Amino acid sequence: MGDFVHLHLHTEYSLGDSIVRMDALMDEIKNFGMRAVAVTDHGTLGGVHKFWSSAKQHGIKPIIGCEIYVNGEEKKRNHLTVIAKNKNGYLSIVKALNSMAKSGKKFLEDKDVFEMKDVMILSGCMNGKIPRFILSGEISKARNTAQSYLERFGEDFYIEIMRTGFKEQKDLNMDLLDLAKELNIKVVATNDIHFIKKTDALSHGLFVSMGRNMRWDGTFAYGSDEYYLKSPDEMKVLFDDLPSAIENTLEISSKCTDYDLKPDLNLPLLSEDDCKTIRNAIDLEKLDDQKLTRVKKELKLIESKRFCTYFLTVSNIIRIAEKLGILIGPGRGSSVSSLVSYLLGITSIDPLKYDLLFERFLNESRTGDPDIDIDIEDDQRGTLISALSQNYGVDHIAQVGAYGTLGSRAVVRSAGKSLGLSDRVIEDIAWRVSGYGTISEALSKNQELKKISQSVELRNLMDYSVKLEGLVHHKTTHAAGIIISKEEIKDKMPLTFDGQRWITEFDMESLADLEVTKIDLLGLKTLTNIKDTLGSATREDLMRIPIDDPRIYDILRKGNTVGIFQLESTSATSLTKKLSPENFNDVIALLSLNRPGPMYSGVADEYVRRRHGGSVMKDDFGLDSILKDTYGMMIYQEQIMKIANDVAGFSGEKADMFRKSISKKDPVLMEELRSDFVKGCVANGYVESKALRLFETISNFASYGFNKSHSVAYAYITVWTAYLKATKPAEFISSLMNSNISEPAKLLMYEKELNKLSIKLLPPDINESKTFFYSDTKAVRIGFAAIKGVGTNLGRVIEEERSKERFENFQDFVSRTRKKINVKALESLILSGTFDSTDPNRKYLMDNLEMIVDLASGGLKIIQQQLFENGSKASLPSSENYPDYDLNEKMKLQRQYLEIGLNLANSDGFSRVIESGFGKVSFQIFENEGKIFATDGENEVAFSYSEPLKEGETYEGDFIYKNGNMILSKLTKSSEKTYIYIKDPTEMQEYMQRIVEMKGHHVIFKFEDLSLTLDDKTLKEEEY
Ligand SMILES: [Zn+2]
Ligand SMILES: [Zn+2]
Repeated sequence: MGDFVHLHLHTEYSLGDSIVRMDALMDEIKNFGMRAVAVTDHGTLGGVHKFWSSAKQHGIKPIIGCEIYVNGEEKKRNHLTVIAKNKNGYLSIVKALNSMAKSGKKFLEDKDVFEMKDVMILSGCMNGKIPRFILSGEISKARNTAQSYLERFGEDFYIEIMRTGFKEQKDLNMDLLDLAKELNIKVVATNDIHFIKKTDALSHGLFVSMGRNMRWDGTFAYGSDEYYLKSPDEMKVLFDDLPSAIENTLEISSKCTDYDLKPDLNLPLLSEDDCKTIRNAIDLEKLDDQKLTRVKKELKLIESKRFCTYFLTVSNIIRIAEKLGILIGPGRGSSVSSLVSYLLGITSIDPLKYDLLFERFLNESRTGDPDIDIDIEDDQRGTLISALSQNYGVDHIAQVGAYGTLGSRAVVRSAGKSLGLSDRVIEDIAWRVSGYGTISEALSKNQELKKISQSVELRNLMDYSVKLEGLVHHKTTHAAGIIISKEEIKDKMPLTFDGQRWITEFDMESLADLEVTKIDLLGLKTLTNIKDTLGSATREDLMRIPIDDPRIYDILRKGNTVGIFQLESTSATSLTKKLSPENFNDVIALLSLNRPGPMYSGVADEYVRRRHGGSVMKDDFGLDSILKDTYGMMIYQEQIMKIANDVAGFSGEKADMFRKSISKKDPVLMEELRSDFVKGCVANGYVESKALRLFETISNFASYGFNKSHSVAYAYITVWTAYLKATKPAEFISSLMNSNISEPAKLLMYEKELNKLSIKLLPPDINESKTFFYSDTKAVRIGFAAIKGVGTNLGRVIEEERSKERFENFQDFVSRTRKKINVKALESLILSGTFDSTDPNRKYLMDNLEMIVDLASGGLKIIQQQLFENGSKASLPSSENYPDYDLNEKMKLQRQYLEIGLNLANSDGFSRVIESGFGKVSFQIFENEGKIFATDGENEVAFSYSEPLKEGETYEGDFIYKNGNMILSKLTKSSEKTYIYIKDPTEMQEYMQRIVEMKGHHVIFKFEDLSLTLDDKTLKEEEY
């Protein structure tokens, strides 16, 4: 059985060309009793680690290779199969492909191939150089090429023979065999695998069409269904006249040793002795006793674990960022608990001030570099990475790559398109499969989907989608991760190059498995907002903001949380109001409690109760000193560690293990630690029953516990945003609006916030607006980019042209910008009111737009001339007494392009409902002391409605105001649910068509007193 090895095989990492998944592949290889298999993806080694580890897991010998592209005649790329014999050979292919990528070329030269070491060369498929020469009748060229490979690679060069059913293949193979005989070259049988089973051939055909965005003709991709993983027996039968071609696969396999894919990268040393550099940088002499003891303890571990270079690298990255004026966060995660981090400027918080435990971050059990993540302004990542490239050298830094896979909806859309289905049908199915783990799950749980997918039209779509779902689809870049190394990364692992920077072909998981140290630079919008608000700001400036300023707590207590970091959601707002923070300590607790665990368990409420004078049960464990800041409650992981340390006598390392086992609810480890814990307590004078009770208390509370280090750091950002909102509200909200410039709903929310703060929102104005929102202290001006159909690029065009001279009027504007601005954008500008200051009659401009643009081709002068040429061919009507849209129409039209800045007299809201007795309102639901309230951003009302609404969602509905009572009479829309009111069930079909447009929405039909929920996407006919 096992006497054949497949040496030419494409996995899903041959993007868009193969549907072979690693685990399924290995299962089949094992099934056939084969002991080894090779991977030869198209021009990439991106999948080799996944391949290697899957093979290892299945007990299969992995052989690593690549079907590379080599320069051919007439710009044709030739295919060539290269197989690495060992790590050196693998690296040899890596280097060749990486230098090709960097030079921007799409193929290698012959000489690049000849320079490869420890590789074996197979002559390739029909697109190989030698086969191509033969096919075009140039036998002597084919012979010369073969000769040159033979000279260079000798025993390691093979002529590749495929029998995959191509017409031309028969003659080609005869010539190849003649050539092999003549030059005494060994032959090897391969099958160019693109799918695993023969029955997968059509799925593969469709998949290839999907990748090319083409309509599928219903046939196999390469003219036959033979490109599957044939069994050794099938291969032997296929090559029964050529047994050596089969035997040679074993020879090739035996020439390959195991590969060590680890790139063995090291962080660049900053000095000869990085540990000494840290000691010098910290200046131990200046520290007080407490700090000195702590630093010594931390350094002992850092030095013994050889983490010095890591700390210096992170601190260096931050220094480089700050030199560029990029704002860095105060810290995040457990690294905030390190005093060394603080003293090196990695974090900006003194951990001793907040009782943060170093062991929560690092202890003896740590293997591999620590993990310090850096928050940075979200729009400055590129700038920083470029600067790091300069600092460390382009070849010493890479961004972490990632792969996108075909999700349920994506596969339905893409397959549906290639199958030629209508958009309506495709969107309907895409909607129905969403919200489930997989399409198969959707089919098993959703009876209606199952039923409709039996139809002839849809059967194919569903069958193929199930087969192709989850395949690797495209390459992207990880949002945060970078790697930095002393060595040139391009010599160590497969990469791509985007013109400026390297991107790894291995994804995050593979890199972690290969022990590559990754540093995360996380973009944080709020940092951008803070810097925008202040014009310029360093972290040091921010640390000087008085965190006990009463204005901060005034804002929080009132629940004015729009724009406040981490507290914007409705549930957070409601908790903020309840907790009513008075100091920084309260904010730290607030951030820790604002998570599902503490919220749903009642821990958050209990904390609020105790915070505001509710009785605190004295614990008889003697934990007061540890729990006094949290009113006798355990809410921080650090507290659990401290108890284990103080009471049970656990070491810092063991206390962290204890903390981990509890938060991960690891029953085995917990059982183990329980007896240790009790023993330790007893040794410290506890009776056993009390020790057991303490252990139970901890294991109950701990699952809600949070990392205090992280909360402390983020609490700083929270109070900074509150401080800015209190002191520079216009600038702050303006910056928030810029961060959300393409999200109308958010802009509306911020407009309401401005209103609340009595800050004016000025309309867009052709002579006053900039691309983005900007503010003086009393007003915010709407930016061009907020107008639908305008965008930042056009905004900049307008600003640039205006910098030469202000625009006199609309015609002047058109004549000066017409080459850069299309008619659609002009309509957006007119209807959003951007020309109101120069040309207040919007209807006049719209009605005569075409003519104005026409005339502008000749410039302003011609327009003016023609204006006075009475009766000539093109003349504009006079704008005097020209009727404009009425106010309602104007607002309706404006709303299509710009939802903010509408005349408030026309805006909907509770005040209007109260005024006129009824009206339509967009509102959010929140709960306060057991009562349900709604807010339109301005007012809050208690109201009644027959069914419960979920908190924190945005809804739209009609309200009636009667005798001081607010009644929600009809709910029309929520962000998740759409309610459709029908008079007659026969209207269902008609509405079903419309649902298709409501991508991803859950739909509820209302018919008299009955409601029909499409929440589970199942239409139950018997319900009506
Ligand atoms: Zn090929
Ligand atoms: Zn191939």
